[in-house]
Amino acid sequence: MKIRVGHLYPDYLNIYADRGNIAVFARRAAWRGHELDVEEISIGDELRPDAHDLLYVGGGQDREQALVAVDIAAKAATLYRAVDGGAAVLAVCGGYQLLGRFYRDVQGHELSGAGVLPLETIAGERRMIGDVLLDCEWAGQTLAGFENHAGRTILDEGADPLGRVVHGHGNDGSSGFEGCRVGNAIGTYLHGPLLPRNPWLADWLLARAIAHRTGGEPKELAALPDDLEREAHTVSAGRARSRGGR
Ligand code: GLN
Repeated sequence: MKIRVGHLYPDYLNIYADRGNIAVFARRAAWRGHELDVEEISIGDELRPDAHDLLYVGGGQDREQALVAVDIAAKAATLYRAVDGGAAVLAVCGGYQLLGRFYRDVQGHELSGAGVLPLETIAGERRMIGDVLLDCEWAGQTLAGFENHAGRTILDEGADPLGRVVHGHGNDGSSGFEGCRVGNAIGTYLHGPLLPRNPWLADWLLARAIAHRTGGEPKELAALPDDLEREAHTVSAGRARSRGGR
C-alpha cells in the first residue's frame, strides 16, 4: 500500500538529522510491504486537503522558523483538517512550536503558528539542552532523545502531554511534562533523530497513517527484530539518567 506522506519545509526545518525520521518511516513501512509516497511541501507550495496520511515537520533555528511562520499559518485550515481527520502527525521542536498558536523568540519577535496544537511558546535566555527520558504512561512506553531549545512551551489547560519528564527539561523546564498529543498528532522536542531509538513510536504513527489510508481502525503492525533500535534506546536513556534529576 502507498502511504501518502507530506514532509513540510524539509529545506528549512531539518536540524539534528531530523530528516532521519522520514528514513525510519520509509524502512519500517517497507519491511511490512508498504511504500511511502513522500511529497515535500515548502513555502508557497499548496498543502492539498486530505492528501496525506502522515504529515512530518522537523526542527529549526529561530531564523528558519521566521522564514516559514507566515506560510505555515496560511496552511492552518488544511493542517487543522488533517489533524481533525485523523492523519498521523509528527512535529519536532521548531516544527512543534509552529503548530501551536505562536513562538515568541528571545528578542520578543512573535512568529505566527498554525494553531492546530493547544499551546504557545516563549523563548527564554537559557537554552534547554541535553539527553531526555520520558515516561509515556498512555502507551506504557518510554521515549529517549535529545533536546536543544530556548522555547518554553506552555500547554493549554487539559491538553495531553506526550510524556512525563523522567530526566531532562521537557516543554518548559518546570511543568514536568514534554510534548503534546492531540488524537494522532504528536509534537515533541526530542531530536536524535527521534524514531531510530524509539521504534514503538514510529510504528504507532505508521499504524495510524495506514488506518487513515484504509479508513479502518489502527492495527498493531507485525513485530520487527528491533535489537539495534532497543540498544540505541537503552544507550540514549542511560545518557539521560546520567544527567541526574531534571
Ligand atoms: N528555535 C527554536 C528554539 O530555540 C527551536 C529549536 C529547534 O528546533 N531545535 O526553541
